[in-house]
Amino acid sequence: MRIGLYPGTFDPIHNGHMDIIQRAAKLVDRLVIGVAINPGKGPMFTLEERAAILEHETSKITETEVVVHAYTGLTLGAAREVGASVILRGLRAVGDFEVEFQMTAMNQQLDRDIETVFLMADPRHQAVASRLVKEIAILGGEVGPFVSPWVRERLLEKTA
Ligand code: ADP
Repeated sequence: MRIGLYPGTFDPIHNGHMDIIQRAAKLVDRLVIGVAINPGKGPMFTLEERAAILEHETSKITETEVVVHAYTGLTLGAAREVGASVILRGLRAVGDFEVEFQMTAMNQQLDRDIETVFLMADPRHQAVASRLVKEIAILGGEVGPFVSPWVRERLLEKTA
């Protein structure tokens, strides 16, 4: 059974993440969405809230089994923990490449059995980032084009 790990902060999940999840679901038998605790990033949503939102949003996926797994520390450690042989990442425009290239090269040296696979961001979602979605929400802007209606409600609750 091929298990894939899709790690991120998901603060909160947006349409770009969702597109990667839907496509990744076709590639593995079980897709584990790794929610990084990442206190350094100062998330808007608590770990429990991010995980609950992810569970709600991925409940409609039928292509494969999807589970949400919170983790702290190295992504490689999380991959081993859940038995994943593949780490899936979304790749947006040039900015992501440099960071991902370096991280993957180092991970390769640490564990040759875990492969990282990149899915190119859909052009419609290239610019979407949780940081900007949160900024727009805080400033009272419309986040509807970037997140699901349900996530939009959660953002409105948070910023009310
Ligand atoms: P963000 O950068 O939006 O805060 P995360 O840190 O949660 O996102 O990223 C988790 C994964 O999702 C990373 O592999 C990241 O490259 C990918 N990702 C983020 N935004 C997009 C997008 N708009 N399209 C495709 N992949 C994305």
